[in-house]
Amino acid sequence: MRSVHVMSRMDAIGVGLAGGRGFPGGRCVQNRSRVTDKEVDSPVSDQNVVAKTDVVLVGAGIMSATLGAILRQLQPDWSITTFERLDAAAAESSDPWNNAGTGHSALCELNYTPAKGDGVDISKAVNVNEQFQVSRQFWAYGVDNGILADPKEFINPIPHVSFVHGADNVKYLRARYDALAGHPLFAGMEYSESDEFFAQRLPLMAKGRDYSDPVALNWTESGTDVDFGALTKQLLAHVGETGGQVYFGHEVRDLTKQSDGSWLVKVRNVRTGATKSVNAKFVFIGAGGGALHLLQKSGIKEAKGFGGFPVSGQFLRCTNPELIAQHRAKVYGKAAVGAPPMSVPHLDTRVINGQQGLLFGPYAGWSPKFLKNGKATDLPGSVKPNNLMSMLGVGVTELGLTKYLIGELMQGPADRIRTLREFVPRATGGDWELITAGQRVQVIRKKGKGGVLEFGTAVVNAEDGTVAGLLGASPGASTAVPAMLDVLQRCFPREYEAWKPKLEQMVPSLGQKLSDNPALFQQVWDWSTRALELGEITDTQLPEVGHVVESASV
Ligand SMILES: Cc1cc2nc3c(=O)[nH]c(=O)nc-3n(C[C@H](O)[C@H](O)[C@H](O)COP(=O)(O)OP(=O)(O)OC[C@H]3O[C@@H](n4cnc5c(N)ncnc54)[C@H](O)[C@@H]3O)c2cc1C
Repeated sequence: MRSVHVMSRMDAIGVGLAGGRGFPGGRCVQNRSRVTDKEVDSPVSDQNVVAKTDVVLVGAGIMSATLGAILRQLQPDWSITTFERLDAAAAESSDPWNNAGTGHSALCELNYTPAKGDGVDISKAVNVNEQFQVSRQFWAYGVDNGILADPKEFINPIPHVSFVHGADNVKYLRARYDALAGHPLFAGMEYSESDEFFAQRLPLMAKGRDYSDPVALNWTESGTDVDFGALTKQLLAHVGETGGQVYFGHEVRDLTKQSDGSWLVKVRNVRTGATKSVNAKFVFIGAGGGALHLLQKSGIKEAKGFGGFPVSGQFLRCTNPELIAQHRAKVYGKAAVGAPPMSVPHLDTRVINGQQGLLFGPYAGWSPKFLKNGKATDLPGSVKPNNLMSMLGVGVTELGLTKYLIGELMQGPADRIRTLREFVPRATGGDWELITAGQRVQVIRKKGKGGVLEFGTAVVNAEDGTVAGLLGASPGASTAVPAMLDVLQRCFPREYEAWKPKLEQMVPSLGQKLSDNPALFQQVWDWSTRALELGEITDTQLPEVGHVVESASV
């Protein structure tokens, strides 16, 4: 596997400092010089010279990596410099054990298909699926064109399943199936209320189950598990190999708009403490939970009024290979009444480092930090005069969330196993360990005199397109490609038109709804299934079952 590794002294991948001109308003004249490890320890090493770069990417997570890789195809002459405060790529939310790795395409997540009268509203589900198809196409293009290496390292076919019990829920699931099954993007979905079907497909969940409580399943064979950490590393390796620079252990502390429209980005080498500045014509703040803070620092008016509310997640990870081997699906249930959408319980097969694993969760936790490796002052420090009312407003209206979080925090180990038994009736504590997942920062947006809490993502960009950042975390990494295309369209409207032919090679359905074009959908589906090796798998291709070890460490 190509990997982004930590370099002890230089801390950089690739070479090339640049002083492009005429960017981002139009033409970029590249003035790139090759430099050696010796010449440049870090862009912040020279006391007198402010290094110049066309693009600064803040953070080495899936979003920055995706944007960097796309830009490499569109404008290979633009210099790209990535700064990551930690010592590894994808060490925050994009790490495979910090998220659930579900290729979110609304095949199984019931929060995307709310009940509506006697039926089900599928509009959100169709939208999420459309977005995932965009990501799938870019990844397929990446594999076919040497941007991405072995697809098995980051994407694997795992059935996506919705599971409910209780008569009312069974009725809802039947209606969901009726609404989705005829739709081209959801073709192949199966529905069953049968105990035999259940026991045959989900043996671990069937053992010890009391079927007097009726069950039902929506089963889609063509779901995926995605190791977003491995994907990030492959994309970033490509950025490095094609001339971009990636600096680990470098934290972006501030950014200041210059009179020529560029940004002076203040960066601190976290090991030496040295602080210097880099001049960039475009800055993307892909800092995950750290994005709000930097958007606020930028002073752009578009960031005003935004706040963030952190919710941490915990998973139970199975340590018993015999149990792991008995389950091969991502099974999503129904969230408890009043619980937020990201709390939907799920029992998830994972494929990480070529090994099969199993997790259950999420259980909510709470910490004022905005990053797993953040600070307790993150939340209080994010309260500004311009977002105080939004934050207070949410505090008043979201009492349900507060109540839910308190309930979750009160849970002990026995309570967690009791929750797991809804899925695995014979679960015992000895087979599962509690791990802390990534930190989500939910978006608080100004609304009227108060604010509203959102569970999606929001791209925030300056009017002149010189800086953009991504807030929020849902549907998350699965939609990294459409989210980054959105950033490009907003920030580079003129270039975007010129880029379209190349973009259409990467994403043949660009600008079209696949729901309205089943023939095109079939074409891109067949192509991406082949390129990503997601076709029917045989037993000999199944990943090894094991207790998977952490793949990224900080
Ligand atoms: C519990 C949980 C489950 C999830 N499940 C799924 C799922 O099943 N499917 C899915 O698609 N998505 C899922 N997500 C969402 C997904 O993980 C995120 O949307 C995605 O990883 C965010 O990527 P990112 O690049 O924006 O942020 P991150 O991966 O967090 O990367 C941001 C990087 O920026 C760095 N950084 C921060 N501040 C600075 C600074 N000032 N200077 C330099 N570097 C900085 C951080 O160290 C970090 O490496 C889940 C998230 C959580 C928390």
